[in-house]
Amino acid sequence: MEISENLKSKVIIVADTDPKLVVDIVSSLKKEGYFNIKIAKDGKKVYDHLRPYYEEPEEVGLIIIGENLPLCNVNEMCITMSNFEGGILVPFIILQSDENNVDTSGLRNNNSYTKGVIHSIKCPLDFSAFPLVVGFQLLMNYERFLRYKQEDRLINELAERKVVDARLKYLVVHDELTSLLNRQNFERRLRLVLKRNNRLHQNGGLLFIDVDLFSLINELEGFDVGDRLLVEIVAIINKLTNKGDLFSRIGSDEFCLFLDNRSAAEIVRFAEKIRKDIYEARLFIGDACYCTSVSIGISGQNTRKAVYHPGEMISRARQACIIAKESGRNMIKEYNEEHARVQERDRDIYWVPLIRNALVEGKLFLVYQPIVNLVNGDISHYEALIRMRGLDNEIISPIDFIPVAERIGLIHRIDLWVIEQAIDFLAALPPKMSQTSLAINLSSVAFQDSSLLPTIKEKLELSWVDADRITFEITETVAVDKVEQTRELITKIRALGCKFALDDFGAGFCSFNYLKSFPVDYIKIDGQFIRNLVNDDTDQVLVKSMVEVAKKLGKKTIAEYVETPGAIHKLREIGIDFGQGYLFGKPQMKLLSKTKISLTGLIKREGKTKNNHPKIDTDKKTFIR
Ligand code: C2E
Ligand code: MG
Ligand code: MG
Repeated sequence: MEISENLKSKVIIVADTDPKLVVDIVSSLKKEGYFNIKIAKDGKKVYDHLRPYYEEPEEVGLIIIGENLPLCNVNEMCITMSNFEGGILVPFIILQSDENNVDTSGLRNNNSYTKGVIHSIKCPLDFSAFPLVVGFQLLMNYERFLRYKQEDRLINELAERKVVDARLKYLVVHDELTSLLNRQNFERRLRLVLKRNNRLHQNGGLLFIDVDLFSLINELEGFDVGDRLLVEIVAIINKLTNKGDLFSRIGSDEFCLFLDNRSAAEIVRFAEKIRKDIYEARLFIGDACYCTSVSIGISGQNTRKAVYHPGEMISRARQACIIAKESGRNMIKEYNEEHARVQERDRDIYWVPLIRNALVEGKLFLVYQPIVNLVNGDISHYEALIRMRGLDNEIISPIDFIPVAERIGLIHRIDLWVIEQAIDFLAALPPKMSQTSLAINLSSVAFQDSSLLPTIKEKLELSWVDADRITFEITETVAVDKVEQTRELITKIRALGCKFALDDFGAGFCSFNYLKSFPVDYIKIDGQFIRNLVNDDTDQVLVKSMVEVAKKLGKKTIAEYVETPGAIHKLREIGIDFGQGYLFGKPQMKLLSKTKISLTGLIKREGKTKNNHPKIDTDKKTFIR
């Protein structure tokens, strides 16, 4: 029987009142290489020896104890210390003297005794066999310890998985902060209600409620206050609703409330009551008192002109809500088809000449943002992002002009311009940067353009840029109805050597479906899950499950909106491969001069800054209402 050095270093306590016996035992053990031996004359001393190992009982290998040891009840000590359930598992060898045998019947019936954790041995000892018994006890104990640890780990994993499963199940239908229906479930139920109402000629109406200046509250007071405020607002609205109404949180500060079986006038009155109650409420959060207001858009279900699709109804109410905001906030507006069309047309009339002009006069340009390997800090590649110069040379965000360009059909020209520009940029880099690669965003209609594939092919051939230096980013709005055609084109472009990324993953409702449908190399997890990841358990659960799925499918993951060092920590813990965000670098016209970012440097810097709230970029329109 081979006893490892590790086992020989375990503590062995020899406790007996007979000094000769103790000396003989100790020397026979030392001869076998056991060196961590402690001696005790009574029970109190045994406990003294054990105390330092309270946190790591596995360090105690064995207690050899005389059955008549004073200041303790040996039977009791053996039973408690060798108790399996608590995980404290110290085996015993009880030395039985010839005379005055202690009554051990209670001990013999004990579980530990029958399992061999407690072993009794008659004196005088046979020192040729004794070390074998000791070695056997140590080995057995070590195996038990490993098994216990393994079981413990499995139980923890199982418990964790159960919690995650339960939360995911809950999240499938609810919003975690407010316990309201989430958008998906709301839409599902609304569809049924709309159908029933159409059949029964019953009216209802949808309120789209948006908290005014919520982003400012978040920014100034922190996310905790923002969250509490939302909960308070929900409580006010909940008091007014009826049983059949459907109430949902569909965006960070956006709520939808479907009022069933009400006339148009009743719905407006109801909306007015919500607006007034929230405006007049004083919301106490901590020591501070807050006042806030909401803008409400209404889309009525007038069954004379049936609306079947919940998305359509939400979109109408939302448009009305935007008008309420633009008209000064704390207002209610009803959707009016004419009004909405006029607004959109006005917007297009303003933008179309600007975009055309930008294309002709070279007022479009690209900026580049680094994407960083979260394991070693290497800059993996850059994302090319488009910008436009306006009439006063101001820089206009793609969020403002890309949707218009898509609507009016100018987007194909923009897509091709971006591809050509990005490949030219790579071709012009100095030889030492010949490995640098770029991600290029494609619009949602890019795949409907038959010149896309030939343009990419030709441009790559003429410029001598390796195709694997290009990754195309697509979003899930891409070709909803043309999945097959899109998949074919993606496959052809990948055959050239280019890679694909699924952008804004998780932001829509079909992300996982798209992942299944399109052969992509990366998934880019939408920034909304990342920016508050450190403080938000729900985001953590969701991001973990996205990473799990991505890993199973062999895709690499990229997190957008990495804004704080704390996020790096969390992302690395979760196992995300790459990060992109203002923390590593904002989009700029030039590439960074370095090829690596010191992740430890960034994390160290965090210790010096107190404020842990993610920074909010106030110059981004999306966050200011
Ligand atoms: P996207 O492809 O998801 O790009 C990421 C956006 O997040 C960029 O906004 C980037 O500036 C921003 N961003 C990056 N890191 C952070 C951060 O830490 N915090 C915050 N708050 N934002 C961060 P950008 O450049 O305004 O682009 C917006 C969207 O416009 C892009 O989203 C993309 O969908 C579209 N887009 C941009 N360039 C192009 C293009 O060349 N062609 C097409 N078709 N669409 C483009
Ligand atoms: Mg992108
Ligand atoms: Mg994105």
